[in-house]
Amino acid sequence: MKIPKAIKTYCPKCNSHTDHNLKVYKSGTARTMSLGQRRNVRKHKKGYGGKAKFVIKVKKQNKKPTFIASCVTCTKKHYFVIPKRMKKVELVAA
Ligand SMILES: [Zn+2]
Repeated sequence: MKIPKAIKTYCPKCNSHTDHNLKVYKSGTARTMSLGQRRNVRKHKKGYGGKAKFVIKVKKQNKKPTFIASCVTCTKKHYFVIPKRMKKVELVAA
């Protein structure tokens, strides 16, 4: 689906609708020494073989696209999620 690069949406800092630039969100690499990560490793790698969870056999085919919207006037960034699953997302200059 084609989505415009610049949209007008609510900015919590400006407390009004302003122009925003969209960027596709990409998660960073997980810290290996964080508490949750250590707990997860302890849970899954303990014992003989160690399997704590069932393996998911059927996976969802598509993802809900997530963007980082940055306000043009105050440069505050926040998430912008389209609550609909879609195969392909393309940012297009409007
Ligand atoms: Zn703003």
